[in-house]
Amino acid sequence: MTGKITLSDLADIDVEVLKGVGEKRKESLAQYGITNVLELLMNYPRKWVDRTNEARVSDLVVGHEALVIVEVRKVSKFTTKNRRTVVTIEVGDESGRLTAVFFNQPWRERQLKVGTQISMFGKPDLFRGVLQMSNPLIDLIGDRTGRIVPIYPQSEKVQVSTWELATWVESALERCRERGLCDPLPVELISKLELVDRTAALWAIHFPETMLAKQNARRRLAFDELLRVQVVLVGRKRAFELDNTGIRHIVNGKLQQRFVAAIPFALTGAQQRVIAEVDKDLASPHPMHRLLQGDVGSGKTVVAVSAMLAAVQGGHQGALMAPTEVLAEQHFNGVRKLLEGLLVPDANNLFGDRQLRVELLTSRVTSERRRELLRDLANGGVDILIGTHALIQEGVEFASLGVAVIDEQHRFGVEQRAALRNKGDNSGTSARKKTNTTPDVLVMTATPIPRTAAMTVYGDLDVSVLDEMPPGRTPIKTFWVAGKKSEAKMWSEVRDAIAQGQQAFVVCPLIEESEKLEVASAQDTFKLLGKTELKDFKLGLLHGRLSSNEKDETMTEFRERKLDVLVATTVIEVGVDVPNATCMVVLDADRFGIAQLHQLRGRVGRGVIASRCWLVTSNEEIRSPRVDALVESTDGFYLAEVDLELRGEGTIMNTAQKGRSDLKLASLRNDRDLIELARATAFEIIDNDPTLKSHNEIRDEIDLLLTPDEEEFLFKN
Ligand code: ADP
Ligand code: MG
Repeated sequence: MTGKITLSDLADIDVEVLKGVGEKRKESLAQYGITNVLELLMNYPRKWVDRTNEARVSDLVVGHEALVIVEVRKVSKFTTKNRRTVVTIEVGDESGRLTAVFFNQPWRERQLKVGTQISMFGKPDLFRGVLQMSNPLIDLIGDRTGRIVPIYPQSEKVQVSTWELATWVESALERCRERGLCDPLPVELISKLELVDRTAALWAIHFPETMLAKQNARRRLAFDELLRVQVVLVGRKRAFELDNTGIRHIVNGKLQQRFVAAIPFALTGAQQRVIAEVDKDLASPHPMHRLLQGDVGSGKTVVAVSAMLAAVQGGHQGALMAPTEVLAEQHFNGVRKLLEGLLVPDANNLFGDRQLRVELLTSRVTSERRRELLRDLANGGVDILIGTHALIQEGVEFASLGVAVIDEQHRFGVEQRAALRNKGDNSGTSARKKTNTTPDVLVMTATPIPRTAAMTVYGDLDVSVLDEMPPGRTPIKTFWVAGKKSEAKMWSEVRDAIAQGQQAFVVCPLIEESEKLEVASAQDTFKLLGKTELKDFKLGLLHGRLSSNEKDETMTEFRERKLDVLVATTVIEVGVDVPNATCMVVLDADRFGIAQLHQLRGRVGRGVIASRCWLVTSNEEIRSPRVDALVESTDGFYLAEVDLELRGEGTIMNTAQKGRSDLKLASLRNDRDLIELARATAFEIIDNDPTLKSHNEIRDEIDLLLTPDEEEFLFKN
């Protein structure tokens, strides 16, 4: 073979070619997740110990935490009378010695062999006149020399030591020297972005000369990870724009103008801005593919209606799909009210126009009514259709679907979203206007995520943000409640509110492991409250084991004020609007995530009366940083940032329902500048070379490193 070594080449080399990797080692490595040289090289150290910064044993001060690098000199183990195992080791460097004890960690005896170099972090005490650390943090260094020592992720089960890994990595990199490693980025780009080259980065991530060199290596390799993802997302975005013919909608026509003039409030600045962003997409020949992020109550519906009216203005139709019947009905009633009295042009009518027609389609609409509705939808008599999944069933045919809106988009699967989009392709039906175009799509979510994270998670969509709340809202007051006394006070305040004609939600503890347990606990809470704190009121119970009919019935009763209190699990629908509900009690609030608590709190604060939210925790001493964040702020974007700080990527990736195994070094939280850089670079690459013809290496690396699953996700979302 000639030419520089690519990552695929490395992936083709079995680890057994490395010196010191025999049958047994090979098996251990496989258990560790490493079978080829690429996997070995991409198994980055989890930390780096700088020997020159470490204390010597003679420098240790009793009571002060410190890190020392020492050699293990003696290991012993015994079991105490009450069956606790104690492993004691004697360690030292040339300046002195100390001991370390480990309680209930019998495996330390196996791990810490005499002669091993370890780095040890802890607080030394004096025990029988000798310095001693109890349960210190240990990293094995082995017999590696050098100033900065890499420490690899370790697994106790498989017996591969961190220094063995380092040795194999070193020999693998050595053997690449002659042919050289291929760098997929052109040199001009590397210097423009001030990155180090691939070879230098791989050496320095494993064996840095300085901590700065390690930082630079990390930056380069993380950039590569992010670039791969962005090239896929941006490529997909551009391909979608090219492959699909959109409709050039008439924006800001009479219908939209009359609508805006007729709504009983002034649009917020954010609504005006986002409507303009959407209009620009609608007027262009490419189909829109836009995500609207906006906190609960930020007024997304108005934006959705405005977009659908642009479609109707040009003789097309609009569709709005919501995840549940309750939400669909709520949207239907709200939208119909917003559009009351609007007329649409109609050549078949004596007066040249007719009433704009909004209809609701759910699984409850059946037989004759459904047939009629579908007929009028297909002949263009229905202008806006609102509904649930029923919208994407077979037999539902639009005359010409121009704008499709999907509310709470994360509650729908990829296929369902695509199915709605495909309802625009209705060539061959008895349509008023035969089209072969892709409708413009607006997906909405009330779960905000920070901007740069959105670039990775929703990178193939354009993103609009409603970051301003309509005026005149009394902000929700949030309290942390812990302890009998404050709980009693809370219930008495809830009773007062109900006595004044208001309503309350009580959310029961989240039990993620088992829906059955969760339902049981909700039933218990319901019974208990009905006998104690809330015994004078009418309580309803809502949980996941009820049929959707039962759920809807209970919701309707609550909305019609036949119930004072709704005791519920987290099934209380996102977006459910009961303006008279002003009290939200969340039990065991520290079990919920920030986003979830924020969503729950959004169920109140929808009317003119000031609302309150109580977050109850059982522990009086320990403050939950998540509960604190909610007490502090009602701003969803701020809370999303805090969430990202506290929990890291996991939260966001869960929202998007995927794992990104290729992001080993890059972090959505800490690498915001790199994400923007990678995205801009991806646009540059794709716009100059849409099929990556002259960027073979990048394309190969994407094929190699993004699993089909990930690509599937990226390409279909
Ligand atoms: P979201 O779907 O974003 O949670 P909605 O669209 O349901 O929010 O709007 C929440 C409430 O705010 C609705 O009652 C709506 O009529 C009202 N609203 C929307 N925009 C404004 C505005 N600019 N000024 C006053 N009220 C508004
Ligand atoms: Mg909404």
